[in-house]
Amino acid sequence: MNGWIVAACAKLAQFGRYSSNFIKKLMLKDKIGLIMGVANKRSIAWACAQACAENGARLAFTYQGERLQENVEKLAAEVPDSLVVPCDVSDQESVDAAFDAIGKKYGRLDFVVHSIAFAPKEALEGEFLNTSRDAFRTALEISAYSLTQVARAALPLMTDGGSIVTMTYYGSEKVVPSYNVMGVAKAALESSTRYLAADLGKSNIRVNAISAGPINTLSARGVKNMGSLLSYVGEKTPLQRNVTVAEVGNTALFLVSDLSTGITGETIFVDCGYNIMGI
Ligand code: NAP
Repeated sequence: MNGWIVAACAKLAQFGRYSSNFIKKLMLKDKIGLIMGVANKRSIAWACAQACAENGARLAFTYQGERLQENVEKLAAEVPDSLVVPCDVSDQESVDAAFDAIGKKYGRLDFVVHSIAFAPKEALEGEFLNTSRDAFRTALEISAYSLTQVARAALPLMTDGGSIVTMTYYGSEKVVPSYNVMGVAKAALESSTRYLAADLGKSNIRVNAISAGPINTLSARGVKNMGSLLSYVGEKTPLQRNVTVAEVGNTALFLVSDLSTGITGETIFVDCGYNIMGI
């Protein structure tokens, strides 16, 4: 009798495992997404891609220049039926060609993860006061304007509604030493998220931003004193640690899935609670 109960429990556990996998796969089943901003396996964009692919999405990837092509192609090869195309957001022709290629391969698009930012290195140290006109323009163009540019290019492909997710940081609201012009660009990005959400709601397209806590990636290493920022923040969060890149990826998964169809124009913090603290 005991043996029978043990066998039945084992069967139930197995069924539970299979059924949860089944439910997970359904989350993005039949959805086609675009992931912009994979530089390497540490990129937030790659964590988003992994979460989406594990949940059934077919994915296109863009990379900025030849320097990153091999990296991105190698990672994208882990995702069945993926497409890899160049796309430099500072060049409109490059953006148009990328969306053209995506349209030709998949015929439509259900979501975009925009995980792109850049500011010249000299603007990410010292005082904000010394930001040059060129650095200001570049940071705002690549890190903020590109969201609007991408949303406009995605619109004709999002024939059945869609979801656009971008990545921001708390330095948009509060002064974070050395984050400087990138904080100003992120403020513009968050505001763009709201304006785009208002424009695109009638097409059933949602636009949201994830405000991620600091994570050790290639771009983050461009910010002076990133190491000390990580250990300071890790000690101060309610959860007493830094956020993981997988946690950001899972939130992107939620935002591109049908679990979040009532959410648009929001900036959602995924920072282990750092932003709620006074001191
Ligand atoms: P990452 O791996 O270096 O990704 C940044 C991506 O932006 C790279 O793939 C980069 O390509 C791309 N990019 C830069 N200029 C571009 C252009 N002109 N056209 C197309 N792509 C361009 O770093 P990450 O930390 O994952 O950053 C992803 C996003 O998360 C960024 O918006 C960042 O601000 C945001 N974020 C990061 C943190 C953090 O602590 N890491 C926290 C909050 C928010 P190249 O390498 O070729 O320049």
